[in-house]
Amino acid sequence: MKVIIIRYSEIHLKGNNREFFESALVSNIKSVLKNFRYDFSRSNARYVVRNFEESDLDDIVEAVKNVFGVHSLSIAEEVNSDLQQISAAALSFAPASGTFKVVTNRADKRFPMPSMKVSAEIGGDILEANPNLKVDLFEPEHTVYIDIRENGKTFVYGETVKAVNGMPVGTGGKGVVMLSGGIDSPVAAYMMAKRGMTLRAVHFHSFPYTSMQARQKVLDLAKIIKKYTLHMTVDVVGFTEIQTAIHEKCPEEYMITIMRRFMMRISERIAKLHGAGAVITGESLGQVASQTLESITSTNSVATIPVFRPLIGFDKDEIIEISQRIGAFETSILPYEDCCTIFLPKRPVTKPRLEHVLKVESVLDVDKLVENALSDIDTVVI
Ligand code: ATP
Ligand code: MG
Repeated sequence: MKVIIIRYSEIHLKGNNREFFESALVSNIKSVLKNFRYDFSRSNARYVVRNFEESDLDDIVEAVKNVFGVHSLSIAEEVNSDLQQISAAALSFAPASGTFKVVTNRADKRFPMPSMKVSAEIGGDILEANPNLKVDLFEPEHTVYIDIRENGKTFVYGETVKAVNGMPVGTGGKGVVMLSGGIDSPVAAYMMAKRGMTLRAVHFHSFPYTSMQARQKVLDLAKIIKKYTLHMTVDVVGFTEIQTAIHEKCPEEYMITIMRRFMMRISERIAKLHGAGAVITGESLGQVASQTLESITSTNSVATIPVFRPLIGFDKDEIIEISQRIGAFETSILPYEDCCTIFLPKRPVTKPRLEHVLKVESVLDVDKLVENALSDIDTVVI
């Protein structure tokens, strides 16, 4: 019978943590498999998926491969622990050409043959069936694994599929990601989900200056990252009043600086409202004027909870590579305007001094503008 073996990384499994980690991981795997029929069981430090439709195999592997906390998967043949059955299964995993070896693990000490001998026997059978193959015990191109379990069953498999690793979502606290329509913030969300964080998103929208397509693009991105974050809710915050007020009352070159401070204040308020303990942004040091150390200092100084910037040390190329890998890039580069591009100053300050920012901002009724924005939220469950 074809089965799927799912392995997780055991590093995290210390003491009491084990139950916490495993129950999050199992529930996340089950949530991505909710549309499939299958049986699921645990067998020391791994899970086994059985009794699925053979036509669902690739889709199941693809879904589980992207669950954070999963280390690798193998598509295996499960047979009775009987040398003939093991040999037949091993032949089906033997390569067509090149070098190979057989690796046997005998967890069931009742099995009458030592593991080295099993490997030699089965290797011999494989060679006999295909004399073009060569055994290489040190650097084989292919490996056939035989895992003789205590329950009288044996798993036989070939290649191992690498999964995403990381920590199961739900084990790393809660955060609010500031999601723009750009390339960076969806990648930032992915990075934090990879460390087990449960996320929701906030998006600032300046209707009618920014279009409904721009808003839809962000919701589309939220849907793409939901594949990794597993849950996703986007709070779309009306930002027009704030942008208009800044535009009217503050020097143009401080537009972005002040805008960022409002975004941060509101995101933090939303975080607290939902019991989240961090705000996440897609900033990368020096990428643009608003991401210099001075600009980040100015934005950061309104925050009272941690602000995580998982891309801070990444080059744009590296960010794009991840964006493509997670399937967000094509959507991120659609040409809809972002609220940051309206009233855009010709020469934004690149090194705002905090004292000066405070002075410039003091003409605004910050509290009232924040409260108004908080009462103008459209919450979209993805
Ligand atoms: P991105 O590719 O994520 O848009 P960016 O390189 O365009 O990033 P900025 O425009 O300077 O950078 O934005 C920095 C960060 O601020 C973004 O990564 C995002 O986390 C947040 N941000 C910017 N605009 C918005 C918005 N309209 N709504 C929510 N968050 C935003
Ligand atoms: Mg942007």
